[in-house]
Amino acid sequence: MEEDALGDALGQLFVKEYFKPEAKARYDTLVKNVMSSFSEHIRNVDWMSAPTKVVAQNKLHAIMPKVGYPNKWKDYSNLQIDRSSLAANVMRANQWQYNYQLHKLGKPVDRTEWGMTPQTYNAYYNPSNNEIVLPAAAFAIPTLLDADADDALVYGYAGASTIGHELTHGFDDQGSQYDAHGNLHEWWSKADRQRFNKRVAGIVRQFNSYTLLDSMHINGKATAGENIADLGGIVIGLDAFKKTKQYQEGKKIGGLTPIQRYFLGYALGWQMQVRDESLASQLLTDVHSPAQYRVNGPMADVPAFYDAFGVKPGQKMYRPDSARVKIW
Ligand SMILES: [Zn+2]
Repeated sequence: MEEDALGDALGQLFVKEYFKPEAKARYDTLVKNVMSSFSEHIRNVDWMSAPTKVVAQNKLHAIMPKVGYPNKWKDYSNLQIDRSSLAANVMRANQWQYNYQLHKLGKPVDRTEWGMTPQTYNAYYNPSNNEIVLPAAAFAIPTLLDADADDALVYGYAGASTIGHELTHGFDDQGSQYDAHGNLHEWWSKADRQRFNKRVAGIVRQFNSYTLLDSMHINGKATAGENIADLGGIVIGLDAFKKTKQYQEGKKIGGLTPIQRYFLGYALGWQMQVRDESLASQLLTDVHSPAQYRVNGPMADVPAFYDAFGVKPGQKMYRPDSARVKIW
């Protein structure tokens, strides 16, 4: 209830406790490094034409990253909260929200505004503002203090699955319809789109082939955009991680190489339990693949994953070279 009524006030307490200045600095840098890795990937992809790449690079450089919490908090000073009546508090909070929205009419868009609170475990790319919004909670690893998380873990957990993933959305079949200013203006050529679609067909086939609950399968077409973002996030995050001291030193932690820890860091964010009924409903309605395949699906396309764990033909996640998808 406080989340809905006073999200930013709660956010200030959350950030003070769980997103200290060192964490803010760490993730500002992480975002910068993942963005520059993405820039290299755009330069190297072979399906995008040279003129389109110029537009893509401009768009990438224009993205506003919002990391952790807003620079400007919402001001609730004219909202009265007291102990006399819960219902009255809720009604006044609703009224406050209504006035807050109404107040925007006729004014320029406030590009500093956040659509999520810092304590939300989620993130988003907003094409209309060409911004990537990363609440502090998206970086929190349950039971682990940020200072105790090594870079491999962090680049996989946040760099790949959140930052890299969200960034690619600005450059896919949907993101290509919006320009660097967030206006609806397509910047891909027909030929770019055709070459992109050809690769998408590969990932659609791959995910269509995953069977769950005996006879159900993932809808490759409906989940394509998200699967592309997961795969892109992994390869973009990986190349960003390769520039870190930890990767270059190559020391094992807990018996695992840095690159093994990177892949496990990515997988860490998708550990969950789901009932069969809920999974069945997700398979029919969600544009995201089930958690298990947000990990096993894209990783089976990444050559570095095979090297890291010595995956051999005949093993469950093995896909022959020719079937591995590469988009970013
Ligand atoms: Zn996504």
